[in-house]
Amino acid sequence: MPIFRCNACKGTYSDTLRDGTVYMHACPPLPPDERGIEPERENKRDETIGTARGNLTPGIRSEGAGVTPVSHKQLSEPAWITRLKKQIAKEEEEQ
Ligand SMILES: [Zn+2]
Repeated sequence: MPIFRCNACKGTYSDTLRDGTVYMHACPPLPPDERGIEPERENKRDETIGTARGNLTPGIRSEGAGVTPVSHKQLSEPAWITRLKKQIAKEEEEQ
């Protein structure tokens, strides 16, 4: 299974969980400050699906700083995100 490194939080992850479901990476918040508030990092990546835009397929919430492939250098991002972007581009063309 392809492994990616998040360029924002430097975490590594596989785009597929052991049970075969898709893993959507979202950067964890930074350690809490003196007020106990956990700030979000700059360039936070969030691969969870955003809100629908009319009848168009929604994309991921935030690209953030992007990802670097670790195991499969030919992939620029998880394959399911590439497929999702193609679907969105196709729908936008048909509008
Ligand atoms: Zn991250």
